[in-house]
Amino acid sequence: MMKGKKEESKNTANVAIYPGSFDPITYGHIDIVERALVIFDKVIIAIAENEEKRPLFSVEERLGMVKEIFKDTPNVIVDSFKGLLVNYVAKTNAKVSLRGLRATSDFEYEFHMASMNRSLSTRLDTLFMMTSKDYFFLSSRTVKEVARLGGAVEGLVPDLVVTRLREKFKLPVAKKKQIGWDD
Ligand code: ADP
Repeated sequence: MMKGKKEESKNTANVAIYPGSFDPITYGHIDIVERALVIFDKVIIAIAENEEKRPLFSVEERLGMVKEIFKDTPNVIVDSFKGLLVNYVAKTNAKVSLRGLRATSDFEYEFHMASMNRSLSTRLDTLFMMTSKDYFFLSSRTVKEVARLGGAVEGLVPDLVVTRLREKFKLPVAKKKQIGWDD
């Protein structure tokens, strides 16, 4: 018997997993998700719970921010996972792990990870998307560094993340100061 339309679309939905630390999420990550949604029916943002990386934000805080940012995008599912990505992927119907590539410096690490994941599970393929030119130099690490030193990160991360970074580093809310020749 033919499968019902509903069942068929459920089983054949193209789902991609976008794993990462997202500590915190930046417009570079969001750009990848938005472009992936043109290709895939669903994107699962899977936040890695890896304490060894000594994240600035707890996994709950990261989940909260990412969920809030994508609350009006039903095709994006936000989740977290511990341990091996291949084990997490096995619990979903995703066939593709999505990763972003910035400079060639990302390549070596990503190449190793993709090869390792492929040898752990032939079910999982890694798909790379090149970053948009505006986000070439954007990383969670530099955002944290700039925010920690009190620099402006508006335009690099959503407003919610700007606020959370300020709270984390106990920085005052930015006030625009008029600087004239008399100051
Ligand atoms: P991880 O710790 O797993 O590298 P990240 O949160 O730093 O997690 O990044 C998750 C993925 O998003 C990685 O594939 C990374 O290369 C990609 N990524 C991060 N920043 C950008 C950006 N500005 N443009 C495109 N891809 C990015």
